[in-house]
Amino acid sequence: MLNSPQPIAITSDWKLELSQSVTTIDELLDSLDLDKKALSTSQQAAIDFPLRVPRPFIARMQPNNPNDPLLLQVLPVKAELTIIEGYSQDPLDEATHNPIAGIVHKYANRLLLVISPACAINCRYCFRRHFPYEENRQSKEQWQSALDYIRSDKEINEVIYSGGDPLAANDHFLAWLTEQIANIAHIKRLRIHTRLPVVIPSRIDQTFLSWATATRLKPIVVLHINHSNEIDSDVAASIKRLQDCGIKVLNQSVLLRGINDSADCLAELSEKLFDCDVMPYYLHLLDPVAGASHFDIDENHAKTIYAELQAILPGFLVPKLVREVPHQKSKTTIAP
Ligand SMILES: *Cc1c(COP(=O)(O)O)cnc(C)c1O
Ligand code: SF4
Repeated sequence: MLNSPQPIAITSDWKLELSQSVTTIDELLDSLDLDKKALSTSQQAAIDFPLRVPRPFIARMQPNNPNDPLLLQVLPVKAELTIIEGYSQDPLDEATHNPIAGIVHKYANRLLLVISPACAINCRYCFRRHFPYEENRQSKEQWQSALDYIRSDKEINEVIYSGGDPLAANDHFLAWLTEQIANIAHIKRLRIHTRLPVVIPSRIDQTFLSWATATRLKPIVVLHINHSNEIDSDVAASIKRLQDCGIKVLNQSVLLRGINDSADCLAELSEKLFDCDVMPYYLHLLDPVAGASHFDIDENHAKTIYAELQAILPGFLVPKLVREVPHQKSKTTIAP
């Protein structure tokens, strides 16, 4: 049984903070005291995939540092325009696992729902940067066919809210959908894959916690944090609000060139996650999505970093190194 949320004092309103996100290269660089000439930014890249970054995330970037690991995750650069063979629009071939709008069903007993087309932050390395979200935008009526699909497949015991970022959707809709899913007897767990509690910590408010704790489904939140600098006291407080209600919190990261590609950096992240009682879950190799090749770490180099990481962390703080291979029944573990 989950604990009901204790009244909490959050002074900011997440929707307001979301609407105040920075969307231009100039404003982002100005706020960090950076000279545009020192960086190979690209307006074209920002047209292809818009720049979007919430202010609480910018507040954790170091001013005057063109190599800041948080900045590099969101800044549109010229390297994105390079066309490289093997990097495609839909690297995971999700189109073939999109049986009906809103559903990606690849693994037997768990099913992913594309809840929200939007994200609070646009990560340049994102493998869904070309996903046809418009085709997956749905009304409550249209969700009925997704619910029928879940109802008809008794092998499914876990529903994963994904996106985009599922928590970019409003709580009224999420509460409704969760209730519909809870009415399907064979579903045990509800997993929420989100970056919102990290980039706008006030997202975890009373309204969210009310529906997330009221359901019979056991909720798990999987955060997406790549670098220890992403965790400040507001993020830690947001995580604690989840945990105080009995919600398990895990983290997944993507191994990214120039951002977290060293054992020391990854170890520091795991330690900081542990301080927040968050268990590292996955460390993903980059999916070969067009526009993100400059973030890629080849598999052999990744294995070397991983072996170093294993040598400096207890086993339970080492995330699983995985890659998503199209048409496999699960993520593929990369052997050490
Ligand atoms: C990653 C993923 C899942 C969840 O996989 P786990 O190994 O259970 O975390 C489910 N469906 C899809 C389509 C995925 O990409
Ligand atoms: S889906 Fe996740 S990784 Fe992709 S842009 Fe949104 S928050 Fe970033």
